[in-house]
Amino acid sequence: MPVETKTTCPYCGVGCGVIARVDDDGTVSVKGDPDHPANLGRLCSKGSALAETLDLDGRLLHPEIGGQKAGWNEALDLVAGRFADAIAAHGPESVAFYVSGQLLTEDYYVANKLMKGFIGSANIDTNSRLCMSSSVAGHRRAFGADTVPGTYEDIELADLVILTGSNLAWCHPVIYQRLAAAKAARPGMKVVVIDPRRTMTSDIADLHLAIRPDGDVALFNGLLAHLAKGTAVDENCVAAHTSGFADAFAAASAMTFPALVERTGLGASELRQFFGLFERTEKVVTCYSQGVNQSSSGSDKVNAIINCHLATGRIGRPGMGPFSLTGQPNAMGGREVGGLANMLAAHMTIESAADRDRVQRFWGSPAIATRPGLKAVDMFEAVADGRIKALWIMATNPVVSMPDADRVEAAIKACPFVVVSDVLKTTDTARHAHVLLPAAGWGEKDGTVTNSERRISRQRTFLDAAGEARADWWQLSQVARRMGFAGFDYASPADIFDEHARLSAFENDGSRDFDIGAHAGIAPAGYEAMEPFQWPQPAGHTKATTRFFAKGGFYHPDGRARFVAVVPAETDRTSAAYPFTLNTGRIRDQWHTMTRTGKSARLSAHIAEPFAEIHPRDALETGIGNAGLVEIESPRGKAIVRALVTERQARGNVFVPMHWNDQFAAKARIDALVPPLTDKVSGQPASKNVAVAVRPFPAS
Ligand code: SF4
Repeated sequence: MPVETKTTCPYCGVGCGVIARVDDDGTVSVKGDPDHPANLGRLCSKGSALAETLDLDGRLLHPEIGGQKAGWNEALDLVAGRFADAIAAHGPESVAFYVSGQLLTEDYYVANKLMKGFIGSANIDTNSRLCMSSSVAGHRRAFGADTVPGTYEDIELADLVILTGSNLAWCHPVIYQRLAAAKAARPGMKVVVIDPRRTMTSDIADLHLAIRPDGDVALFNGLLAHLAKGTAVDENCVAAHTSGFADAFAAASAMTFPALVERTGLGASELRQFFGLFERTEKVVTCYSQGVNQSSSGSDKVNAIINCHLATGRIGRPGMGPFSLTGQPNAMGGREVGGLANMLAAHMTIESAADRDRVQRFWGSPAIATRPGLKAVDMFEAVADGRIKALWIMATNPVVSMPDADRVEAAIKACPFVVVSDVLKTTDTARHAHVLLPAAGWGEKDGTVTNSERRISRQRTFLDAAGEARADWWQLSQVARRMGFAGFDYASPADIFDEHARLSAFENDGSRDFDIGAHAGIAPAGYEAMEPFQWPQPAGHTKATTRFFAKGGFYHPDGRARFVAVVPAETDRTSAAYPFTLNTGRIRDQWHTMTRTGKSARLSAHIAEPFAEIHPRDALETGIGNAGLVEIESPRGKAIVRALVTERQARGNVFVPMHWNDQFAAKARIDALVPPLTDKVSGQPASKNVAVAVRPFPAS
């Protein structure tokens, strides 16, 4: 008899429910779960091709030490011993974990607990740093805690949806489908897309603003200044529930309108049209994603957007609010359990002595990190300069995805001890591991993920683990026990979920910031049957909190939100030697470094090779022909890709996807060109707005 299992898609932050069916002959097929609130039965091309990515080609089927097959005991003993040796000789700051938004929340929790509560360092960071940490920083500055105020339904209920730095049609396709359906049903609904490129998302737009890269702070400052001169500001809301408006308005008003035109690259009439739409429309949702976050001013961009929603009181009510779209399937879950180097579990902070004390007593741990650890870029810098002696990389491929990727690869190669836990043994990063630990893949592992709207869903097992693969939480727990630590005797992910839930309510004194991610503990039977739900949903509450802040109640101690006065940074990084601006991004049918989606011929047929979108006049002036090869160079490195000459691209800009590595195409790792420039608040790398030279290849 065929068996159907309800689970969740492992790709993007939309978090679609999937029904996986295994037939008697072992054939797997998938379809969208009509009961899952995120997708209501829909799937995108990537999700619908999941069954095509489950073969064993390239799978890591057993532990390896130095490239040789090893037993689990031998490998785990070696990992525990080498980490303990490094800590004994050089202290807890000499070791690090680099983890991933692909991990399930239970994996993330155990990794965070081991590093912060028992090793006593906060050197655990995640590839989610590359994805949404500027949104986290912006939320914490504005709201006093990291939370998304609204829900996907708000995007459908809005009369104006602004998409900035988001190619929703390709990167969050099911949300795009929901938006497109809502717009078709309500022709009065307006969509504004803000992006230097005219992407597929722009096709739904009533107004496309081809903004200069990193012009967002200026644009939303200009909007705030415009709103404050009219009648759209909700003075009661500002007075009762916020502080800092005068400073934010002063900063926003400092730029003249001609300067705003210059800084944004937009026409005066376009700006007025956009400002007027926002001013006149009560129900506004502003969605933002990597084009906002992946910037040296990403946090300021987020706060510039939030400022406009706070000023108008358009937050936390149906069809209103700022909305951060997370990239990865469990970027949000990682935030809940403290998977970032500057956070603790259950939304508590390392900076707070009371939080540290509470977490340490709950864990019964011998030591707890007292200061934030190394964020992703700084972590690999510490690997490069020899401060990190032992590094454990889980479920991610930094040799392709990190900025300054060649230097990251050299650092990993030179690190005295590198452990990689992964599904595949063929990734660019796995090649450099001293120890490889086979991880259970999608369909084999069991746990929870949280999507962009704070909805916790189960990923469930429907396949036997390949070879000797084991869950990441099990690997971590085994190493912790071998290092002599108590509190890691979990029998299942249900145990871990329950422990995290109990921590989220531990000594709950009613202070709001402690309530933020609370949800009730749950018995194993309930865990198995768990339906998707949004946090917070503390014990005794039968209904989740769908929206925050409609009546204030922000998480700063005084209950008020903060306007953040932000000033546009200088954005033009080009020079005579590097006259073009490179923006990296994603395409519709590939995910991250293609380790899974690259297995599907159907997905690869969409776009078969890496490319650079370039404007026809730029192509003409540089001698680049359509479909010819083009060399892109920055001070950090070079890549060679196919030219795609198109008027969708703004002049002076090139767009190159970040997916391809040197296995799929020669010299295609575009992140090797990206400098390790980060946002000063969030530490998120600026994967956009990179100065490059562009020329035909080979040079004539
Ligand atoms: Fe998976 Fe995202 Fe596509 Fe949904 S939209 S099926 S979560 S990749």
